[in-house]
Amino acid sequence: MLQRINAHFINGSWRTVAVPEWFTLVNPATEEAVSCVARADAAMVNEAIAAAYHAQDAWGRLDFTERALYLQQIADYLTAHRDELAQGITDELGCPLWFSREVQVDDPIDALRNHVGFAATLQREKSWDARLRVRKEPIGVCGLITPWNYPLHQLIAKVAPALLAGCPVIVKPAEQTPRSAIILAMAAEAAGLPAGVFNLVLGCGEQIGTILCQHPDVDCISFTGSTRVGRLIQRNCADTVKKVCLELGGKSAYVIGQTKRLAEAVKLGVEDVMLNSGQTCVALTRMLVPAERYEEACALAAKVASQLTIGDPNQDESFLGPVVSQQQYQAVLQSIELGLEEGARLLCGGTERPAGHAQGYYIAPTIFADVHNEMRIAREEIFGPVLCIIPYCDEDEALRLANDSPYGLSGRVWADDDAERERLALGIRAGLIFTNGAEWHNAAPFGGFKQSGYGRELGLAGVDEFLTLKSIVTEVAHD
Ligand code: NAD
Repeated sequence: MLQRINAHFINGSWRTVAVPEWFTLVNPATEEAVSCVARADAAMVNEAIAAAYHAQDAWGRLDFTERALYLQQIADYLTAHRDELAQGITDELGCPLWFSREVQVDDPIDALRNHVGFAATLQREKSWDARLRVRKEPIGVCGLITPWNYPLHQLIAKVAPALLAGCPVIVKPAEQTPRSAIILAMAAEAAGLPAGVFNLVLGCGEQIGTILCQHPDVDCISFTGSTRVGRLIQRNCADTVKKVCLELGGKSAYVIGQTKRLAEAVKLGVEDVMLNSGQTCVALTRMLVPAERYEEACALAAKVASQLTIGDPNQDESFLGPVVSQQQYQAVLQSIELGLEEGARLLCGGTERPAGHAQGYYIAPTIFADVHNEMRIAREEIFGPVLCIIPYCDEDEALRLANDSPYGLSGRVWADDDAERERLALGIRAGLIFTNGAEWHNAAPFGGFKQSGYGRELGLAGVDEFLTLKSIVTEVAHD
C-alpha cells in the first residue's frame, strides 16, 4: 500500500488538494514505489502568493533579531528531527545514510544557525551625513525553487536569508524529494511563524514555477537547478521585472600543480566526484594534471575508485549509493556511452551494472582518461559518478583549460608551493575556489560565474540578495 502525501502548508495551516494529481516516489535503491505525492493546483499556488503578500508588511517591520528568534526555533526543531530527515533523504535520493546525517542534514542546520548569528551584525539603517539615511528593506514576496540533490541544504540556503531579511516565502521543492520540505514546514509551524510567512506547495515545476515567475505580487525568484530551467525562469520573470537569483550547473576544474603529495591530491579529487553519486553541482568533474605525471595520476585515480564501496545506502560502509531516478540513470549511462564514442579511454566503471546490484539505479564510479577539453563529456554537466582526467603542459595551459567552460561555479587547486597555488586560485574564473585539502565553509558566499548563474547564497552576501536599498533624503534647515 503506497503512502499518500497530500500536504501543502499555506497561510499557517495544512491543506489538501481536493481532486489530486499524484506523483509517485520511487526508492532508487530498490526501484520500488514507496509513496505518492499530491501536486498543488493553480488555485492553491495563488492562495499561497496572496497569503505571503498579506504577511509581508508585519513580517518586514520586525527587527532582524526578532526574526532570528524564529530561525533559532526552526533550527532546534530540525535538530530534534535529524534522524527522520536523514532517513527521508536517503530513501528519496539514494545517498548513504551517514552522508545524509553529516552532510545533508547537519551542514544545513549549521548554516541556519549561522543566520541566527548574522542578526546581530545586520543594520537596517545607516546615516551617510545629516541629509541622507540609507535603509535596507526586504525585497518582498519570494518564490524559492529548489532541486533534489541536496534537498535540505538548498531550502535552508534560501529560506534562512529570505526570512531573516523580512521576506515571506513560497517554497517549491523538487518533486523527487519533498520530505525534508514537509519537515521544514512543520518546523515553521512549531516555531509559530506568523500565518503566510512560510508557505509550501509541492508539485510540478513547470506549472507551479511558471505561476510564481509570472505573478505580479511575487517580487523575487531564487532558483537552484539546471541551466536549462534557469534560462526559462529568467524569461518568465521578465514581464514582471522580478529580481532573479540563479544557482545553476557546473563543470568544475581541479587543477593539480606541482606536488609531492600526488596520491593524496588525486584521492581527494576522485572522492569529491563520487560523493552523492556525482550529483553535486560543485563536483570537480575535470581533473587537470601535469602531462609528465598524467599516467601516474590516472593509475592512482583508478585505484582509488576501485576501492570505493558502492552499495545499500543504509549500510555504513557504502560510500556511494544509486543515482536518484531511472531518468537520471539513463542520462548518465548515455553520457558514458558518449565518452566512449568520443574516443576517451575508460579507466574504470562504465555502463555495466556494478556486481551484486541487479536492482536499483547503481552506476559504478567511472573515470575517463585521454579526454580533450573540447569533448562533450568535458563540457557538459553529467551529474553522475563520472570523472574526466585531462593533461596540461604548463600553468598557462592549465588555467586556459580550467576557464574554457560555459560554467564557473567552483574549482579547486592543489600545489605545494604557496605562490603557484595562489596564482592558480586567482586565475580560475569561478565563484568558489578551494585550495589543497580545504573543506566546505558554510559562511562562504556561494554562487557562480558565467552560465553557473548569478546571485549569492550563504554568508551575509546571501542575506543581501533578499534586501533592497531605500534612500531617505531629509531637508536640513539652513541658518
Ligand atoms: P531542474 O532544473 O530540472 O529542477 C530544479 C527545480 O526547478 C525543481 O524544483 C523543478 O520542479 C523546478 N522546475 C522545473 N521546471 C521549471 C520551470 N519551467 N519553471 C520553474 N521551475 C521549474 O534541476 P534538477 O534536475 O532538479 O537538479 C539538478 C541541477 O541543479 C543540476 O544542473 C545542478 O548542477 C543544479 N544545481 C545547482 C546548484 C547550485 O547551487 N548552483 C546546486 C544544486 C544543483
